[in-house]
Amino acid sequence: MTSYCNAKCGACARNLNGGATVPGLKLQHFDTDVWHELAEQTAGSLQKLSLNGNWGDPGMHPQLISMLETWLTFHDDCDIVIHTNGGMHKPNWWEELADTLKNHRHRVIFSVDGIGKDHELYRRNTSYNRVIENLKAFNSAGGNSEWIMTLWDHNYKDVDKAKALATMLGCYWFQTRRNNSGDICPIRDDKGRELYTLTAKEANKHGKFESVSLPNLKFVNKFSKRKDFEDQTISKCPWYNQFEVQIDPYHRVWPCCNISIYGHIEGWPRNPTIDQSKILYDDFNDLTKHNIYDILDHEWYNDTLSDAIENAKYAVCRNNCDVHKY
Ligand code: SF4
Ligand code: SF4
Repeated sequence: MTSYCNAKCGACARNLNGGATVPGLKLQHFDTDVWHELAEQTAGSLQKLSLNGNWGDPGMHPQLISMLETWLTFHDDCDIVIHTNGGMHKPNWWEELADTLKNHRHRVIFSVDGIGKDHELYRRNTSYNRVIENLKAFNSAGGNSEWIMTLWDHNYKDVDKAKALATMLGCYWFQTRRNNSGDICPIRDDKGRELYTLTAKEANKHGKFESVSLPNLKFVNKFSKRKDFEDQTISKCPWYNQFEVQIDPYHRVWPCCNISIYGHIEGWPRNPTIDQSKILYDDFNDLTKHNIYDILDHEWYNDTLSDAIENAKYAVCRNNCDVHKY
């Protein structure tokens, strides 16, 4: 939805170890007219809209609520999942969001990485108190939320306390997960000076990793009209088998989040493992120029990518999805 973010999480691709925004990142919000066209073109034929961020937080899009209203006009049955740090806006904005979503199947996932100031060590630039106020307001106004907690050595012993608090605040789900930077995550300031290092050695070894429903969960599925389709197994690509694509804030349609990440920072990262010459400089996957169905029908999707996956040509596929030639 956007490449803007209020936070500076330590291991996020959009900043340098919690410091300066990565050089070359183009700051852009998804265009509302393109969004309207996309919603209209795909009306009634999608099961799930998931707003997460390779480059920014969906909550930073100034038109997020009206864009969701547009989406729901054309996709009454669609399951909506939003991932957010929850630290932007005031509680009344979150009440409005809950009001928009409350009669539809949805889950808003708030990243809260511990209790009190512990949370702010990784989720730099967010205020724990503000996130909790927003989460509470969202839940009280009828929103369905999940508290997700990334475990570090400084917070992994607080999982039970966090779960109890999530229950008290009215969340429906609670999840703990590993961080994606291994045992160590250095945190730097905007000038690149190291401030401190987060460690996760103990947390990775002894942490309790779980995804659970909380007792508050009562009627959350009552608006669900979604029918689950069985995964296809005809491709080695898990996103293809799940009928998923990734669309970035620059209106480009990618086969998955792993490949999309190489698409839009000029000069970085120059990853030789996928065919960037084709992807970067060709506008075939640009929604401002083509409709979604023409994009998915393009030679790159049907031949180039299929062949690369079938023959395990891209390291990005081998490394992220364990794709092998045989
Ligand atoms: S909230 Fe998300 S997009 Fe923003 S810095 Fe953190 S991980 Fe990155
Ligand atoms: S990295 Fe390759 S195999 Fe994995 S989801 Fe993306 S396109 Fe598919």
